[in-house]
Amino acid sequence: MDTIELHDPAVRRLARPRALVTCAAYLARALCFLFMFVQCAHAAAPQVRTQGPGFYRMMLGSYEITAILDGTHDFPVDTVMTNVTRAQIDHDLAIDDLSLPVQGSINAFLINTGSQLILIDTGAGVLYGDCCGRLLANLRAAGYRPEQVDLVLLTHMHKDHVGGINLDGKAAFPNAIVRASRLEADYWLDAHNKNTAPPFLSSFFDAAAQSVAPYVATGRFQPFDGDAVLAPGVRALAAPGHTPGHTAYVVHNGSQTMLVWGDIIHVASIQLRDPDATVEYDSNAYVAQQTRRDMLALAARQHYVVGAAHIAFPGLGHVSPDGNGYRWIPLNYDADPAKHGAR
Ligand SMILES: [Zn+2]
Repeated sequence: MDTIELHDPAVRRLARPRALVTCAAYLARALCFLFMFVQCAHAAAPQVRTQGPGFYRMMLGSYEITAILDGTHDFPVDTVMTNVTRAQIDHDLAIDDLSLPVQGSINAFLINTGSQLILIDTGAGVLYGDCCGRLLANLRAAGYRPEQVDLVLLTHMHKDHVGGINLDGKAAFPNAIVRASRLEADYWLDAHNKNTAPPFLSSFFDAAAQSVAPYVATGRFQPFDGDAVLAPGVRALAAPGHTPGHTAYVVHNGSQTMLVWGDIIHVASIQLRDPDATVEYDSNAYVAQQTRRDMLALAARQHYVVGAAHIAFPGLGHVSPDGNGYRWIPLNYDADPAKHGAR
C-alpha cells in the first residue's frame, strides 16, 4: 500500500515536507542532547586546589593562643638528617605513610594575654620562596593586624623564624619590640662568625642581619639575657644546640602551661622515635641531642601543651614516652575553643 502511494508523485510531494519535519525534529533533539551535555560539562564545579586559611585557636587559661601557618615546604629529610641511617629514615617515614620529600610545616604562635599581643617566631618571609611567607595573610585571616603585635619573640634567628619580621626592607610589625637571646643575636650578627661557620650557613648570617635591621635602626631589637621573664606568664628557657642561643618560651596562665619549643623537633617521625637524630644545621649536634631529650622529658612529665615550629600544622599537642623515645598526641580539634577552654 505504502509502495503504491510513494510511486504517486502527488503523494511524494506531500511526503517530502513531512520527512523534512521528521529530520528537523531529529536534528533538534540531537542539538538538545548536545546542549544538555555541554551544560552538564559546564555545571561541574572547577577544582579549587588551595588550602583554607592557616590558623588554629586554643585557650591557655585566659590567654588566647593562635597557631599561624607560614607555609609548608619540601623538606629534604634524606640529605638534612644526621646521626641516623638512611634505612632508619625510610623505615620511620614508611610507618607514618610519608614519602620524600616530606612537606614540613612552618608554624608560629600568637598569644593574646588580654593586655599584650605576642608573636613567637615569624616564618620565612620571602626567604623560602613561594611555599611560605604566608604568616601575615594568615594572621589577618585570624582576625589580627600586624600593627597590633606588641612583642615578637624569636626562638632563634634561622631564616624560617626571623624572615617574617621584615617586609620589603621595613618592619613587618611596625609597633613591635623584637627580642631574642643575646647569645643568639651576638652569634648571627657578628660578621666574624660568618667566616668561621660552614659555607652553607653564610646566607643565614646575611638573612638574620637584614631581617632585624629595621628594628635595630629604631632601637626596637632588644636581646635578653638568660631565662628572662619577658611578659606576664611568659619566660625564656635556654634550649641550645640547634643554634647557640636557641630558646624555648614557657607560657603559663591559670593552671595551664605551654612550651613553645622552636626547633627541638624538625621531623617528628624520626626525632621523636630517636631524639639523637640531628640535622646538619645544628650548631652543636651533641648539645642539640641533650636539649631535645631534656625538653621532651619536661613536656611529658609536666603534661605541657607543646607549640612546635615544625610538627604538622597547627603543631599543637602533647608528648608521651614511648619505648626509647616519645610519641606525639595532637590536640583534639575544637571548633569552639573559647567555650571549652584549655585541655
Ligand atoms: Zn626552623
